[in-house]
Amino acid sequence: MKLYCATTNQGKLREFRLAAQGHVEIQPLEGLERLPACVEDGATFEENAVKKALHYSVHAPGPLFADDSGLEVDALGGAPGVISARFSGSGATDRSNNALLLDRLRGVANRAARFVCVIAVANEGRLIGAFRGEVEGRIVEQPRGARGFGYDPLFFYEPYACTFGEVEGERKFQVSHRGRALRAMLDYFDRELFQRK
Ligand code: IMP
Repeated sequence: MKLYCATTNQGKLREFRLAAQGHVEIQPLEGLERLPACVEDGATFEENAVKKALHYSVHAPGPLFADDSGLEVDALGGAPGVISARFSGSGATDRSNNALLLDRLRGVANRAARFVCVIAVANEGRLIGAFRGEVEGRIVEQPRGARGFGYDPLFFYEPYACTFGEVEGERKFQVSHRGRALRAMLDYFDRELFQRK
């Protein structure tokens, strides 16, 4: 079975493909960058992921999935949440976002945070399902490690005793919000395909 993916991010695509081996074949949606962009103005990760999946699936030759993800920090009432990519305003970079996050948490004792990812699947403009993955951690006082992207160098994952900026990609994917959401989607398709046999 072939599943199309609405991303131009090669890093995400590589992670998704690795995890889906032996389940489904994942293909990027060709020409995605030339299509009218989907406006991601939902209040939740679910809303945005579903919006994107519905929007792009009408341009795909088969079922398509889209993801939305971000960081929720308890002491900030769940911020940056759905605005994680543009937390520090227009022209935000990973560096400026991380600097702002550290600034907001200066002197704050409760550093609990989680990464959240929702993957939505749609076929020809009809929603098939949405799958959520989360991973709990805490925000450290200073960036650690140069791997990953986004808030990874600030996200300390207790079971690995290091930040996501310090772990190798495949190891991160085994426990990450994106890995968990993808495996939930794959379990769904495995069950569906099994029932059809
Ligand atoms: P998007 O799902 O690509 O729109 O990601 C939203 C934003 O959330 C990213 O730009 C990052 O700032 C943050 N984010 C999402 N997933 C991760 C992750 O695995 N590590 C670090 N930051 C992440």
